[in-house]
Amino acid sequence: MGGTFQHIAERVRSGTPATPEDALAVLRATDEELMQVVSAAGELRRAHFGNTVKVNYLVNLKSGLCPENCNYCSQALGSNAPILKYSWLSSEEALKQAEAGLGGGASRVCLVASGRGPSNRDIDKVTEMVGDLKENHPGVEVCACLGLLGEGQAERLKEAGVDAYNHNINTAESNHDNIVQTHTYGDRIDTVEKAKGAGVSPCSGLIAGLGETDEQLVEALFALAELDADSIPVNFLMPFDGTPFENTWELSPTRCLKILAMARFVCPDREIRIAGGREMHLRSLQSLALQVANSIFLGDYLTSEGQDAEADLAMIRDSGFVVLGSDEELAQREHQDPAIRRRGAGTDLVPNA
Ligand code: SF4
Repeated sequence: MGGTFQHIAERVRSGTPATPEDALAVLRATDEELMQVVSAAGELRRAHFGNTVKVNYLVNLKSGLCPENCNYCSQALGSNAPILKYSWLSSEEALKQAEAGLGGGASRVCLVASGRGPSNRDIDKVTEMVGDLKENHPGVEVCACLGLLGEGQAERLKEAGVDAYNHNINTAESNHDNIVQTHTYGDRIDTVEKAKGAGVSPCSGLIAGLGETDEQLVEALFALAELDADSIPVNFLMPFDGTPFENTWELSPTRCLKILAMARFVCPDREIRIAGGREMHLRSLQSLALQVANSIFLGDYLTSEGQDAEADLAMIRDSGFVVLGSDEELAQREHQDPAIRRRGAGTDLVPNA
């Protein structure tokens, strides 16, 4: 069977997309076949992202108090999860929080706010924050995640310098209404399309472990491929007490690895980010998962704590990867791109001697 995964990877590398059957085969690989799956998916990862890991940092601008009822979410209407709840951070506070992540090596800051979607005044707040952030850190990439977008809001974010907009589809269309009833799958797609339409890079991903079938996971991944999401966060359900999914434990470390590998086969050149639930569900396989995924969040998540940021960075180093945008990675890039000689013999310029 190992040859099969290699064969799929070769096919994908030569430009033939993986089929739903291929994706199911990856998902249903036995644990004995796991290393063949990782090896084959890892080839695709290295073909597109080399040995780099993109590090992202989350700033929760507004926590809890959400009127939506996404059953998996600790911030949802009806959730009794004992999380921090607060309204909008000030622009100064948001900048301070973002700078902690940038200091830790993050190249993308994700500005997230709970809620169904932003009002135009909320967009004002975020555009001010983005302005401050970009002025102080010109190279930073900013992703906004503010819920369902109204007309013209994506354009305003784009003008303010927002690089990407995150809105996850979360699960397959065929499973959507089982996990949330206050908005539709179509609403979610509409927001991703609005971001794309405004020229903002679409970031959209999923949550595994929501009672979905293998076929539904495959359905969700192909929907993301179809949506042309540039970055795909793969979350693993964190079953918060006080939410409808409390005590739901459907995932194992090897299962999570296969899900990430499946995402890589289906979307070989897209940023596959190991998102929420990484520590809880991949556990000691986190570093192996970096062989397949090329992006992580540094440190803490929106309402839960991740492992120490230092441990994240050590894991990246120990696995032989470099943080995208770090001095080490930039030096590596210089090494990879020989400077073409344009002086001395064959030119009118003096030689370098
Ligand atoms: S996922 Fe977003 S919209 Fe849904 S309940 Fe949580 S914060 Fe609200």
